[in-house]
Amino acid sequence: MKVYYSEAHRGHDAPFEILEGGVSVPVFECPERMERILAALATTGWAEVTPPRDFGLEPVRAVHAADYLHYLQTAYADWQAEGGQLGIATLSPVLYPATFPPRRGRGKPRSVVGRAGYYTMDLSAPIVAGTYPAAAASAGCALSAAEDVARGDRVAFALCRPPGHHAGCDYAGGYCYLNNAAIAARYLARRGKVAVVDVDYHAGNGTQDIFYEAGDVLTISIHADPARQYPYFMGYADETGEGPGAGLHRNFPLPPGTGDAAYLRALDEALALMRTFGPESVVVSAGMDIYAGDPLGDFAVTAEGIRAIGRGLAALRRPTVVVMEGGYNNEALGENVVGLLSAFGGD
Ligand SMILES: [Zn+2]
Repeated sequence: MKVYYSEAHRGHDAPFEILEGGVSVPVFECPERMERILAALATTGWAEVTPPRDFGLEPVRAVHAADYLHYLQTAYADWQAEGGQLGIATLSPVLYPATFPPRRGRGKPRSVVGRAGYYTMDLSAPIVAGTYPAAAASAGCALSAAEDVARGDRVAFALCRPPGHHAGCDYAGGYCYLNNAAIAARYLARRGKVAVVDVDYHAGNGTQDIFYEAGDVLTISIHADPARQYPYFMGYADETGEGPGAGLHRNFPLPPGTGDAAYLRALDEALALMRTFGPESVVVSAGMDIYAGDPLGDFAVTAEGIRAIGRGLAALRRPTVVVMEGGYNNEALGENVVGLLSAFGGD
């Protein structure tokens, strides 16, 4: 199995993140995650780790707004040049917004601190010098995997960091800047219908948002109920798509403590919807934060449950791109990724 991975992610390494209550902690979404996954893949005998190819910006622009891409490319340099309010840019190497647009705001301001608020949905998408190169390489991993699958490979794994599923057309959030799964899905949709299924613990709000009115991409997300969990504003069961996309989005919000049996029941329903849709290819947003021991989740899915999810996805028998999303229990992360992929491992 081809595994696309770029070392560029190492440059995206913010020194802290800010949680509710203003608590500043080391970033859960850290470079060590990739090392854990690579170490586990190295033991399998079927993982062929390969650098991504360069696809230029055209397939990224097919998903993300040009002004947002320009912001991501220039924000850090602008932050350094502008100096930040009170000269804070010289004190902190991280661009963090502190002001967000009100309901009837004026839109995009000139100041980079203002634009950071405009283009960011939360405090979980800090920008450092290496953020854009890492995000661009991460999207390249997803596109390389998509190209292989479009050319006939059964499966390919995009070992993406930063992850992508919270990023919308023109906003970052939840550790995500470019929506790798959406970029792969839009690329694959050139050759026929695509189904995206998101098994990360958190609702894939960015993917939902990007394809909400699309008639050629079915999107499904199984996740913690946003009534009580991040991302709070999207991911509810009654959000089902609009216009040409009406009926082509489904959310499965689940309660705390969801274990293997309940999770796999929701997955079975999702798989049935996908079979009915009849996609040419499938994109999986693979988050391992559903695992029982995850510090950012409260599900009780076991390592065997994650293997069963992999078997269910493989049983669709469609060409499949698996895209790495979240998962923050570093001790178990590698084993869980291998567990999910192993159902495809011999392909
Ligand atoms: Zn997550």
